[in-house]
Amino acid sequence: MKNIPFNGKTINQAIHTTAEYALIRRPALTDLIRAFTDLFLQKDRCMAHLSNHIRPVDLTGSHDRMMSGIPLLATLSLAPWREPLEIAFEWMLPAVKQTFPVIGGDVDAIMGSYRDGSLQLVLLAEEYLAGSFKHYDPAAQSIGVSGDTLGFVMRTVLSTALGPLASKIGEGMGDKAWSKGYCPVCGTLPSVSFLAGPSGDPGEFLKDTGGQKFLHCGLCSHNWRINRHTCPVCDNTDKEFQMYLMEPDQPGERVDVCHKCGLYLPCVDMREREAMPHFDTAAVCMVHLDILAQKQGFKPLSDLPWNRIEG
Ligand SMILES: [Zn+2]
Ligand SMILES: [Zn+2]
Repeated sequence: MKNIPFNGKTINQAIHTTAEYALIRRPALTDLIRAFTDLFLQKDRCMAHLSNHIRPVDLTGSHDRMMSGIPLLATLSLAPWREPLEIAFEWMLPAVKQTFPVIGGDVDAIMGSYRDGSLQLVLLAEEYLAGSFKHYDPAAQSIGVSGDTLGFVMRTVLSTALGPLASKIGEGMGDKAWSKGYCPVCGTLPSVSFLAGPSGDPGEFLKDTGGQKFLHCGLCSHNWRINRHTCPVCDNTDKEFQMYLMEPDQPGERVDVCHKCGLYLPCVDMREREAMPHFDTAAVCMVHLDILAQKQGFKPLSDLPWNRIEG
């Protein structure tokens, strides 16, 4: 497996470049793009700060379990990560409130619950990672906020805390094979895919990978390669059931749809782009393709804060 090296110093610039690329083409999405861009910039700042707080993680046995399709962090307790989670919580909640004032009251209430010690931060983070969400409704009810807002807040916090760690773990994975549609690090389904462009730099990671398909984890930001003609969810490899939709005159952006499972995933075609985008920003910037796919009856492969389209 080839991990995509992403120099932390370039993330800030990539967020801006990716947003500008889309704003010129789709000014109607300006408010949405600017809101998430602000959030991703704060996340980038927090992750840079957190990279000094990440302790080594004992992954004994994890690489063997990986061979059976079990993600590296699947069985790990997050208790030792309380500090990074708390730092991410403190840094990201004010940014969430500022970016999305409409849920500001709920964010204040969640912060209040954290301050009085009743919010079970580690437990909620572990459940988010495991996809179980057992304590989310009771927690949201006792705080008096919507379950959606609590989920969005926890996703933002966990994603920020996991980022630097997942980056280190991903580097340590070397060439281990992983053909699954979910993230080998955290087990989450991808938020976006990309087709690699040819590299003009011999020896670089993109060498000879032109057109190869990679999936991007929207939670921990890990990228991994997958067979280009395999649906990440139902493993369908029948090309007759796969197609993609795109807008006219918008090369480099499309949405892959699977007629077998009815799900879709946006895709950035790097062969049509000059610079490596920030993939989370790119996913937000392709919400017009979410609308296109959903209008045709397809459902998003991952429920993301920006792809819930009403009506
Ligand atoms: Zn992940
Ligand atoms: Zn499928």
